[in-house]
Amino acid sequence: SAKRTGGSGYAFFEPHMNAGVRQQIELQRDLRLAIERREFELHYQPKVNAGTSLITGVEALVRWRHPTRGMLSPVLFIPVAERFGLIGALGSWVIDEACRQVAAWSAQGMRMRVAINLSVHQLRQDDLAKRISAAIAQHKIDPVLLTFEITESVAMEDAESTLQMFEDLSRIGVKLSIDDFGTGYSSLSYLRRLRVGELKIDRSFVQDLEFSADARAIVEAVIGLAHVLGLKVVAEGVETAAQRDVLTRLHCDDLQGYLFAKPMTPEMMTKWVEGDDAPGTSWLAKLATTR
Ligand code: C2E
Ligand code: MG
Ligand code: MG
Ligand code: MG
Repeated sequence: SAKRTGGSGYAFFEPHMNAGVRQQIELQRDLRLAIERREFELHYQPKVNAGTSLITGVEALVRWRHPTRGMLSPVLFIPVAERFGLIGALGSWVIDEACRQVAAWSAQGMRMRVAINLSVHQLRQDDLAKRISAAIAQHKIDPVLLTFEITESVAMEDAESTLQMFEDLSRIGVKLSIDDFGTGYSSLSYLRRLRVGELKIDRSFVQDLEFSADARAIVEAVIGLAHVLGLKVVAEGVETAAQRDVLTRLHCDDLQGYLFAKPMTPEMMTKWVEGDDAPGTSWLAKLATTR
């Protein structure tokens, strides 16, 4: 909503817009520095098997420890990084850091599976698979321990190039997952051609499960479809025992959400797995299904 000033001819923005634009510009300037200064951290959120409650892996979620604004959410800075061409550098840092952590957990005797989110620009980088194999080789980790999550809408956007990239990625031995599933319009035949092993049901369906017969029907159909195609199903954003119970009844494979754990630092994660925060289960028992 730009307006024109009386006689000067300069366009200006309304105060709230002005602040928003200024904030974006400040953010992108800070982001450039943050990449050099390594102000980012990865936090890890467990996924658990619905039937056994054993941990099956974790999702890496990036946070920015901003020097003056505190801990910032990726919802705030990933779009800015995308827009200003900084996602390549940030994404490479995320991949490298996740691989380093997988190696560190391996050294502690934990064969932890880690899922990494990819954004649209990363998926369109021709050398993405090469960069990922280089990180895997550098940290000497088993590629099957890595899963890459791509949202359904991104996967659908440019189907042919996505197919090519997924083929390249699956050739290096990593796993693939479709994130926020149910919000886009994937066709059955397309899903079959993509070499994905997993669908993650979007949080919006999980939220509605207790109250909406439609949401239940959709989730049931998605799980049935995924299983026919040989895919695993993960539900994201599980917050209540009622949601967990419905999802378990519908044969959802894995569950992820605040009901089990919030994203944690690697140190907190190790403790959680060792049972400090989940009494009665040792990490050996909890890791049983990841072997
Ligand atoms: P996502 O991949 O769908 O990740 C799930 C988001 O839901 C995370 O938010 C997680 O903290 C949050 N969440 C998990 N359980 C619950 C729950 O029970 N209730 C609610 N309300 N929320 C829950 P987060 O960490 O803020 O990340 C938001 C999005 O930012 C991610 O959505 C992902 O698209 C993107 N993102 C995060 N890390 C990265 C990254 O390293 N690279 C890229 N490209 N994108 C990332
Ligand atoms: Mg994700
Ligand atoms: Mg998701
Ligand atoms: Mg989501």
